[in-house]
Amino acid sequence: ALTEEDDPDSGRVRVAVRVRPKNDEEISHDSEFIDCLELQPELRRLKLKKNNWSSESYIFDEVFTESASQKRVYEAVAKPVVECVISGYNGTVMAYGQTGTGKTYTIGSLGKDNSSERGIMVRALEDVLTETSAGVDTLSVSYLQLYLESIQDLLAPDKNNIVLTKDTKSGEVCLLGATVVEIRDIDQFLEVLQIGEGNRHAANTKMNARSSRSHAILVVHIQRSLKAKDENDFLAVDMNKAEESSHNIKSKLLIIDLAGSERIDESGVDGQMLEEAKFINLSLNSLGKCINALAENCPHIPTRDSKLTRLLSDSFGGTARTSLLITVSPSASHYSQTSSTVMFGQRAM
Ligand code: ADP
Ligand code: MG
Repeated sequence: ALTEEDDPDSGRVRVAVRVRPKNDEEISHDSEFIDCLELQPELRRLKLKKNNWSSESYIFDEVFTESASQKRVYEAVAKPVVECVISGYNGTVMAYGQTGTGKTYTIGSLGKDNSSERGIMVRALEDVLTETSAGVDTLSVSYLQLYLESIQDLLAPDKNNIVLTKDTKSGEVCLLGATVVEIRDIDQFLEVLQIGEGNRHAANTKMNARSSRSHAILVVHIQRSLKAKDENDFLAVDMNKAEESSHNIKSKLLIIDLAGSERIDESGVDGQMLEEAKFINLSLNSLGKCINALAENCPHIPTRDSKLTRLLSDSFGGTARTSLLITVSPSASHYSQTSSTVMFGQRAM
């Protein structure tokens, strides 16, 4: 990836919040159902009401009500990151929130029956395919699941020994052994995603794990030839420098559907549940610390505490772009989870 950028927004985490629509149960119990949120999107403000006489206001980069479309959310949250990645920088888009609040809907929807439902992964690939040149640039993806600090390949279910390493010189994160599939068009990408979803379901059934307890990570690799990037750029290059005229720019986009943010009380469970709880708490806490450090412009981002943050370490901070979408339920019965999700988002601002 490129390493120089004089963009004041680089390194900063952009944070948006999305409220999902009420579900059938919430609608049918309308009389006893109280909203705990009041949204003022034009002021980018979310008011969290504890009860009738006490509320707190929070400002985000973007506030989406339940009527916001997938297209709008993509364009505000992910598109700026995707554009940076297309021009050679690394970037990350992730969704954080309680299980059932719309992370997978926002990130991973395939929109099979209705393309307007397509989520961030599909829309990002559509944009990358439009902006790159077939036959000159290459576009490829890996699709992984991180569960109990182990990385599983969602495109090759028998591969469970993917090794996360970091090039000490370049700082580049590598996933040794992960399947890399070249993407040529959007229909083929939809097939790849669908295979990944199927394997995720099968793997989780086998491990007796719920998908909300793992992180799903799509890694998009873009390699562009400078020649293709801009014909004028190319002409400006000194023709004697053959190596420069065939220069490749590599960049990477991570799109992450994080595990449910509801913290499990480690004291009440044992066995696999305890392992899951420890792991989720560890990885989301360490993500929170890194995001906090980014927000405070710390020179050192503590990425070494968990596999999740190690995997992210070359794709946030520095010149990389990061967008965090937090998802919440409108229901007062989820007040405390919503409050803790909102706090997580605020720490990144
Ligand atoms: P999570 O991945 O956070 O556990 P899901 O994405 O599975 O949550 O969403 C839970 C349910 O709510 C799903 O049935 C999903 O289709 C629905 N849902 C979530 N957000 C929206 C939305 N913005 N519009 C319509 N349906 C939504
Ligand atoms: Mg989900």
